[in-house]
Amino acid sequence: MNENTGTLTINLAAIVANWRTVAAYADSSVTSAVVKADAYGMGVEQVAPALYRAGCRHFFFATLSEAVAGRSLVGADAQCYLLGCVPGGSEADVVRHRLVPVLSSLVAVNRWLAWRAGAGFDASSAPAAVKFDTGMTRSGLAVAELQHLLGDAERWAELSPVLLMSHLAVADEASNPQNRRQRDAFFALGTLAKRLQPDLLLSLANSCGTYLGRDYHADLVRPGAALYGFNPVVGGESPMLPVVRLSLPVMSLRALTQPSQVGYGAEYTALPGQVLAVVAGGYADGLHRILGREGYGYCLGVKVPVVGRISMDSTVFDVTAVTDLHEIDGRQTLNIDVLGEGDLSVDALTRRNQALGYEVLTCVRSGRYRRIYQGE
Ligand SMILES: *Cc1c(COP(=O)(O)O)cnc(C)c1O
Repeated sequence: MNENTGTLTINLAAIVANWRTVAAYADSSVTSAVVKADAYGMGVEQVAPALYRAGCRHFFFATLSEAVAGRSLVGADAQCYLLGCVPGGSEADVVRHRLVPVLSSLVAVNRWLAWRAGAGFDASSAPAAVKFDTGMTRSGLAVAELQHLLGDAERWAELSPVLLMSHLAVADEASNPQNRRQRDAFFALGTLAKRLQPDLLLSLANSCGTYLGRDYHADLVRPGAALYGFNPVVGGESPMLPVVRLSLPVMSLRALTQPSQVGYGAEYTALPGQVLAVVAGGYADGLHRILGREGYGYCLGVKVPVVGRISMDSTVFDVTAVTDLHEIDGRQTLNIDVLGEGDLSVDALTRRNQALGYEVLTCVRSGRYRRIYQGE
């Protein structure tokens, strides 16, 4: 029991298989990959090249530094989009790294065009994408602003974006009528823009949006979550494979002989006869997000609950129900799994913890975990 950090096992083959599953479903569109936030915590250095080898040629990043780093991970023929803003003064870097900025406001469009003209670039030497807002009110040109831009033939020709996109706000609520409203608003202007510029790619759907049906696919779909094992089929069975497993090593076992308070705040009292396991891993490793309230894990296949509060670096589980404990000697590492398949899947944790599954996954980035990648 001497490993002092948890082990995060990431199945690259499953990520690739999930991408292929989406691509097969959206077979009349291009399937991109959203790899922002270090590929949702799974490690962009491994994930992006694996998806590139599988045939993915469109990658979405959030920040400039993510996109610059990501650019070198994939082949020169891949399109790398920067979803976040172009920081003032970094336009030349964006072009030098052959990134495609997603211009998400009229100010951003005007700034980009002014810079581009001044620096001697044009739509083909410094391509851009445009995002407009169809009902999320987070980022993107307003519908009226895009309409205005489309009405100015000269300005639109100067801009000539490679991609026109929008983002669904409630794709995870399949029956919410806002999805159809956003889709109709998207295609109303998208179709108009495509008439002006036939090579323009249109893109609306994230993971759940893709599984709302073919009429959401447009030219390019943008799955993120589904690639990392989330179920994109609202209310249906998941076509995705689980991607991640997190095992925490037991640092010490204690068989109690008298009543004992466990952890900060002494919120839990353990009784004689109970066996407690202290594992390496606490809220500094994102465990409060992963375990949530009334969390549990599995030890040698037996469900074991968390007792007491999660500490910064350690968490205590009640392993009384594990009958094989005596077979573990000091040289073996005993682990407790807290993320994996079945009721430890990101979907199950999302349901149980009412935390966004995205948070559950991205919080593993902060953890001090040893990472193991399973091959393609
Ligand atoms: C994050 C993001 C996605 C991916 O969303 P998922 O729900 O993870 O599939 C797609 N498009 C945009 C603009 C995003 O910001």
